[in-house]
Amino acid sequence: MWFRDEKDLIAVAKAKILDNFPFAYGILSKLEIKVIDRDDTVGYVNYKGEIKISKRIFEENEGEDVINFLSYLLAHNALHFALKHPHRDNGDPLFHIACDVVVANMLKWRLPTITFHNYILQDYITPVGDNCFYVTDANGRKIFIENVHVKSAEQIYEELKNEGFAVPASYFLPKLDEDDIPQGDVKPYIEKADEALYYGANFHRRIRGDLPGELEELVKARMDVEVPFDKFIEQFIKRAIIGKKNDWTKPHYKSGILKVFIPAKKGEKSHKGVVAVDTSGSITKSNLEEFWGVVKKLVERFRLDLTLITCDVKITDVEKLKKKLPNERTFVGRGGTDFRPVFEKAEELKAKFLIFLTDGYGLFPSEPPRIPTLWVTPPDVFFDPPFGSVVKIKKVKS
Ligand SMILES: [Zn+2]
Repeated sequence: MWFRDEKDLIAVAKAKILDNFPFAYGILSKLEIKVIDRDDTVGYVNYKGEIKISKRIFEENEGEDVINFLSYLLAHNALHFALKHPHRDNGDPLFHIACDVVVANMLKWRLPTITFHNYILQDYITPVGDNCFYVTDANGRKIFIENVHVKSAEQIYEELKNEGFAVPASYFLPKLDEDDIPQGDVKPYIEKADEALYYGANFHRRIRGDLPGELEELVKARMDVEVPFDKFIEQFIKRAIIGKKNDWTKPHYKSGILKVFIPAKKGEKSHKGVVAVDTSGSITKSNLEEFWGVVKKLVERFRLDLTLITCDVKITDVEKLKKKLPNERTFVGRGGTDFRPVFEKAEELKAKFLIFLTDGYGLFPSEPPRIPTLWVTPPDVFFDPPFGSVVKIKKVKS
């Protein structure tokens, strides 16, 4: 064995998670891992996103067993955090069991489930087909829970409680260290959890092409309108622009700063994209104001090289945007919407991405286009397009 210490083992466990479940790896990469000297727990995650794992794991297991156990434990706790379970904890062990059902549904068949001689981990939560589980209580009663992917931990908790679920005596919550007890403003940590979940989803999409349907639904249900808008746009643009091949013949512009050779990305210069604004009759004046605010942000904050296309049933204007934009702009609105000419034009312009500001009512191309597409909609619109990602403009709090 080449592993020297706990650090090595954690690194290998992380690699195993990356290989089996990039979603969990993405989340985990945003969190800290601490090894603690406690034997009343195998590990847990606190509200700050610190995963604490007990030394026991390294002392009581060896070889593959440690790797399997660690990878399961790390992924398990990373998911707890991203789903904000520590922030919603009501102190009832049954709530944690409900949270464990949610997490087990995401991990099932992705990482080997662990039933160790030294620990009983989740052997009472048994998957039975798609998004369904049996949860066995202290009296051996099996309670059936279905559609786990669209249920919150609170809903599952209620279901178990209504069934009179008896919590097994062997099941207890770890005692919290002093720094695990929330103090002061916890909002930054809640945001950290949202961002981690979001990052995990994007990371998975980048590596595997897309997110499995049930996770997509889960992420949607958990995030809904609380998407950090700017972060989302940043991720989208990075995904569209970066991710190109390394060019080892030229140094990356950051090489000088970091004093080490970093290969340039082939064809890196282009940040060229298209931002399209739907000006059709269904778009209100305040929607258009919001849209222009987004365009301004894309140009001035994200420094994108953009061509603006306005459209309704056809393209009404194509304009290369300057680096600085006026605060207001008038658009002329008309009848219906056809998205298709915009996709054709974007292709003609060899744009790297397309950001479409619309309420979503319009005609789509019959085949999903190759160009990465981000649909940006007003805050209260529900829109489920056949391709691309969607983000809602955040409601400005008054
Ligand atoms: Zn748990």
